[in-house]
Amino acid sequence: MITAMRMSWALGMLFTSVAIADTRDLVYFIYARIHSQPEMGHREFETGRLIRDELERAGYTEFVDAPSLETEVIAVLRTGRPGRTICLRAELDALEILEDSTHEVCSAVPGRMHACGHDAHAAMLLGAALELRDEPRVTGTVVFLFQPAEEVKGGADDIVRDSTLHKLGVENVWTARVSGASGGCDSDCAGTGTRRE
Ligand SMILES: [Zn+2]
Repeated sequence: MITAMRMSWALGMLFTSVAIADTRDLVYFIYARIHSQPEMGHREFETGRLIRDELERAGYTEFVDAPSLETEVIAVLRTGRPGRTICLRAELDALEILEDSTHEVCSAVPGRMHACGHDAHAAMLLGAALELRDEPRVTGTVVFLFQPAEEVKGGADDIVRDSTLHKLGVENVWTARVSGASGGCDSDCAGTGTRRE
């Protein structure tokens, strides 16, 4: 398992050194990075930095701070074409669960894992941000919210209290989530993890 994980990381470093041309490859790479290094709510510093770096590399320049949070990433895409302002949102934080699996991509942090799909959600949202940036059919403004602390207090509540999205004129928020074997904050993680008591 460890060997496979190291191979995956080595492959990841190779990817970054030669530049990832395909968004799908990048999404998987980001998913693997986040899954390997899970961070708890309000502590998603490396996860947030990873996402922000990729957004900046793709040309995003407008980022908004939520005053009550430290690890959020909020990027704004202004198309210049008339339309609504919407928000696409994903979460960033992991759970206190011991990962017990033989998957190629595993948590490198004992007792901590992404068992709720936030790793996939964040990677998917990053992929959407990269794909939509130069998509001429997109109109209005799209706010990409990578929200910390979905599993603990704060997070969404802080963003609402700060009126962060309201100030941007967001009319509605959309989110997507994985389902099936790894889905569900309240699930038993389909046998891939052991919840710490
Ligand atoms: Zn969750």
